Amino acid sequence: MKEKNSNNIIHEWNIIDTPSREEIIKEEYNHCSLCGEELMFTHNTDFRFLKVEEEAECMSCGVRHKKDHHILQ
Ligand SMILES: [Zn+2]
Repeated sequence: MKEKNSNNIIHEWNIIDTPSREEIIKEEYNHCSLCGEELMFTHNTDFRFLKVEEEAECMSCGVRHKKDHHILQ
């Protein structure tokens, strides 16, 4: 009986799915830092300077988040 209880505990631990570091970072990146709503991304490509400006806008509170600038190869 005692052995069965410990088996149940081990089984419970296996069910718990902890998010990876990458998943947490991605989650923070895709969501508004103010209200936590999902962000809408827009990419403005500037061909004169060969760069892409990534902008994220929150549909809920209207906050704009400037994201990374990518240099085109
Ligand atoms: Zn927001």
